[in-house]
Formats: sequence, C-alpha cells, structure tokens
Amino acid sequence: MDNLWTESSFHDNIKNMVAQICRKLGYATREEFKGKDWRADVFVLANGIKYAFEIQSSIQSVRKTLERQAKYIRDGVIGCWLFEKEPKQKNELENLPLFRLNNNNDNVTVSIKDRKEISLEVFIKDFLHGNIKFCSSLNPLELEVRFIKMDCWKCRHENHIYYIGDLITPCNAKIFFGDIEMWISEKLMFTPEIVEKVLDHAKVNNKLNMATIKERYSNTVGNTYLSFGCSKCDSIFGDWFVFEAIIDTWYGDGVVDKMMISKKEIPVDLKSETPHWCHPGENDFCE
Ligand SMILES: [Zn+2]
Ligand SMILES: [Zn+2]
Repeated sequence: MDNLWTESSFHDNIKNMVAQICRKLGYATREEFKGKDWRADVFVLANGIKYAFEIQSSIQSVRKTLERQAKYIRDGVIGCWLFEKEPKQKNELENLPLFRLNNNNDNVTVSIKDRKEISLEVFIKDFLHGNIKFCSSLNPLELEVRFIKMDCWKCRHENHIYYIGDLITPCNAKIFFGDIEMWISEKLMFTPEIVEKVLDHAKVNNKLNMATIKERYSNTVGNTYLSFGCSKCDSIFGDWFVFEAIIDTWYGDGVVDKMMISKKEIPVDLKSETPHWCHPGENDFCE
C-alpha cells in the first residue's frame, strides 16, 4: 500500500501540516513565500516576529544550511530547520535552530537533539511562543541516586552503598556523573542533604542494608576521609574498592534500587557550560 510518506510527498505533507498548525494558532501564514533571494516553505508572522520554517527532506550540509540561514538573518527572519535526515553537528548553534523530524506510522514528531521527542504541533507552538530557547549551560533539575550491593571485605556482611548516576536537566539531557572523586571527603554524594534523603529512602526500602558513612582512617591513603564502612564491623570500604564496585554497575547491571533527588534541595552548583537548544516544558530553562 502506498502511504502518505513517499520521499516526494513527505516535504509537501509536512509543509501543509506546519502551515495548518500556524493558522490554527491564529498567525498570518504563507506557504512558498518568496523573499529577496529566498523562498520559505512556511512563512509565519507571530507576535511581530517573522519566522520561516524550512522542511528538508533531502540531505543538506550544515555549511549549506548556514549559507541559506544567513539570508534569513540578514532579513530579520528567524529560520527554523526541520530535517528528515539531520546533518551531523559538532556543537548546537544559536543562529541555527535545526531539528530532526521523525515519522512513526504517520505520527510526525520532532526530536530536540535526541533529548526529547515532541509532536510537530507542540514543537511549532512552543517554538513560536518562545518555549524553545538557546541556553548556554545545562542546569540539572534532578539527580539520580543508584544503590548497589557491597559485601564487607572483612566479615562478609552484605551492605549497600550508593552513588550519583545521571544528572537530569529540565530539557531531559542526561549527564552521567558516576562518582569518580576518590579519597576526598567533599564528594557530591556525601553532601549532607543527599545523605539525609538517601538514608530516609533506605529506611523505607527494607531490602537495603546501608553501609555507614563517617570519617575513617585509611592505611592505604594515610589519611582520614568520609567513607562508607560495614554496618556490622565498621571496617572502611576503601575508595578504590568502592570505585571498582561503582564502575561495574555504570551500565545498569547490579543496580538494586534507584531514587531521584530534586536539585532544588542540594546547595551545590551542578551547571555545566554546554550551549544547547532547551525545551524545558513545564520547568524553567537551563539558562
Ligand atoms: Zn564487616
Ligand atoms: Zn536545557
């Protein structure tokens, strides 16, 4: 059976859909609108701002796209590019909003750089309403805590320890943390607010037998640091062994429980400079 999405009609179908969405939102909309030396698939005037939506079903390089985009920038038009085959980009660019269209059984969605997948309708609406914005840093909203098993090397008693897995931003970027700081007390996972939440959680889940956390002297390091230790015999779980146990579960195997902690409750700056197109939905932008 022929579907609506043969290569030749894909472009026109999406174009019609985008135009329809814009009209439904009440904005002046023109298809195949001609400018000086450009022609926009869908040209929209929304809240005094001119937009051009370009649907790209054939392959086009970033360089070529930037050339075409320069004309829009010159003429004060915000060009937004929707690619069927998104070209590879090293970095996301503020002057080039460029996203990938996906078509699953005639349900057209837009991928926000693989972080989020939203319907074409929501995408167009949020783009025109300023709910998709270029931000300079990723600013986590939540931290994922992972619990793993660690038997005492001395008495063999079964203990559980934890570490920070992903930091998750409002735009759903997952930044893997993985706790690799060793032999220091100032670890993110030992932030008092995190320890408190984790211990509260562990009390409710009776499968978890938490190792105790306190300052212990390590012969290996010749120093005292905040450490996990056996809940039965109090032997220190050295950071090297803790780290090895953590690495073994980085890809998910051996994680016995998880919990999420809101960043709002943690007085630590977790922002990282990563320019990106941010779609936070109900939440605040990364900024
Ligand atoms: Zn022990
Ligand atoms: Zn963001």
